[in-house]
Amino acid sequence: MSLRLKLILSFITISLMVVSIFSVVAYISAREYTQHVEQVRLHKSNEHLFEMLDKSQPLLAQLQNIVPHHENRDNVFSIIDASQKKILPGGGFNLGTYLLTEVLAQSKNNEIQQGSFTIGEQEYLWSADQVPDSQYIIANTYLRDSSDISAFFNYVGSPLSTTLLISIWISVWAALLLARLFRQISEKNTQLEYQASHDLLTKLPNRASIGRSVQQAMESAKANHEGLLFCLIDIDALKEINDSLGHTSGDILLNQVTQRLKRTLRGSGHIGRFGGNKFSIMIKHSKTDNAENIRHKLLENFEPIYEIHGHSLYVHATLGIAIFPEHAGSAQELIQKTETALHTAKKLAVDSTIYDASQDNNSAERLRLTHDLRNAIHNEELQLHYQPQFDVHRNEIGSVEALARWIHPQQGFIPPDTFIEIAEQTGLIQSLTDWVLRTAIKQCAEWRDMGKYLTVSVNLSARNLHDETLGSQISNLLHYWDIAPDKLCLEITETAMMTNPAHAKKLLKELDNLGVRLSIDDFGTGYSSLGYLKQLPVDELKIDKSFVLNMAKDENDASIVRATVSLAHDLGLEVVAEGVENQVSQDQLSRMGCEYIQGYHIARPMPCDKLTEILIPVEKNNDAQPDKIPVNARSGNL
Ligand code: C2E
Ligand code: CA
Ligand code: CA
Repeated sequence: MSLRLKLILSFITISLMVVSIFSVVAYISAREYTQHVEQVRLHKSNEHLFEMLDKSQPLLAQLQNIVPHHENRDNVFSIIDASQKKILPGGGFNLGTYLLTEVLAQSKNNEIQQGSFTIGEQEYLWSADQVPDSQYIIANTYLRDSSDISAFFNYVGSPLSTTLLISIWISVWAALLLARLFRQISEKNTQLEYQASHDLLTKLPNRASIGRSVQQAMESAKANHEGLLFCLIDIDALKEINDSLGHTSGDILLNQVTQRLKRTLRGSGHIGRFGGNKFSIMIKHSKTDNAENIRHKLLENFEPIYEIHGHSLYVHATLGIAIFPEHAGSAQELIQKTETALHTAKKLAVDSTIYDASQDNNSAERLRLTHDLRNAIHNEELQLHYQPQFDVHRNEIGSVEALARWIHPQQGFIPPDTFIEIAEQTGLIQSLTDWVLRTAIKQCAEWRDMGKYLTVSVNLSARNLHDETLGSQISNLLHYWDIAPDKLCLEITETAMMTNPAHAKKLLKELDNLGVRLSIDDFGTGYSSLGYLKQLPVDELKIDKSFVLNMAKDENDASIVRATVSLAHDLGLEVVAEGVENQVSQDQLSRMGCEYIQGYHIARPMPCDKLTEILIPVEKNNDAQPDKIPVNARSGNL
């Protein structure tokens, strides 16, 4: 039954009930009122009778004489002798003991004598009065007409039915009004619910709704021992399109992507707009094996060319995929792992990746490593190795690069690339660099005291360039160990310098003012412009090992190295080549005019004791004379 009909019926029922209650109350009131009127009339008839009596004549005889003449349908009298407690002959009405008891009981209590009683189906009203100055009572009785009720209804019938009709009409009208109001409220609620759970542009479920759907799908997948694939698709070009062609074009692109995804999945998956430039796809019953197929199908069908306002646009998408139960046990975890997979794909600049725990920065393994690294830095459990740099012109080891090493108590050697990245991401890099600087400068002082005044290079990370205290900390250390500032070289990668050029420039100027050497590390891997480099107060440029490693065999690499050396010299910078693994490369670099050479061919990074032994042989230690290592004596020894 519709809500409208239900409301109408309930309202009519209510109005019928109200009218019925009203009628009953009105009938009862009318009955009581007419009874009262009749009883007053009966009293008046009694009094009228008494007025006709002559006090000088015998009373009873007079009553017995008058009464019969005054009786009619509405007044039937009984003569009662109160002292003898009996009804005397003369009146037309004799109800015997009943009337007698009632009348006498009331006269005894001195109450107004009136009442009613029913015999069979007939109701009688009576009013009794004491004949003045006598023991006689006249009871006047009236047989109430049963037609009273119908008379009442005849009288109130028409206004009652009008009231009934009006109230039914009002009820129906109110019910219809209310039904309309309810319908509008429920439509509004549905609309609000839709808006809260859908993206209004693409009409796809939004992030909140996607979360709920994944939750439900996962519960049913768990119960049925099935799998669930969740995929996030990132539309790379959306921001550029919004910026260059306007938001309307961006909206058109999002709608076109929606249509393509729908065509690709043909109803077999659940598509959503995860937010901004991200779409999501959820496919049930997916095991890892067919995740590959789905990934290919999605990428294949995501045709790169989109036509928007007459422009043919190349739009690239990146996919991240995670699968239940392989990668996650809860909906929230599945979504989070998919986001990690997407993030990894973007970082590796590939089309797509399926979640891989080893690349997850938030995996339990990684968190444990972060915790251990914090302790290792705090307890000074890291070691500092040094890799010599050969000075081509002076034909000796003139400097060393300090490289951090971490031997994990359980996991053994952890590559610096791994723990340095963790330190950079967690902010631990600040205390790590602090420790490296303290250790390296102290070591530099020890070597100096042994007669070998080497330049020590220390690596800085992008995050160190935000440390306002770095300059004063370095200055204090140099002062404390009495080390000349140019004996410390700070290596900063090209990429780190470009992360926040304005900031980097400011800090480099401050460090330069201290007099320390500054070096651009891994040069050639970033995108720094020559114009920018010229503005920096750097002293040397370190060609990245990726160009140096194969330069002996690869003419292209050799050309890049040659051009870089010449560029650095034009800018007034000295050049360090790292990754020199053979004599041929070393000779090539010498011919090119490269000032410093670093690599396994010279020596691998090693602990300070070992390097001390090699650089400063025991007998020479005592003389405290600077040691010069001839080129031919170096190879393979260190
Ligand atoms: P990097 O600054 O480019 O350091 C040079 C890396 O090249 C070192 O790797 C070194 O062992 C390696 N290397 C040197 N010569 C050769 C060679 O002839 N052939 C090859 N294949 N490799 C060579 P390592 O020690 O594994 O360090 C890796 C990276 O970790 C460093 O790259 C640096 O970016 C970072 N790192 C190490 N220690 C520190 C540190 O104390 N602070 C910071 N911020 N980063 C550090
Ligand atoms: Ca370096
Ligand atoms: Ca390097």
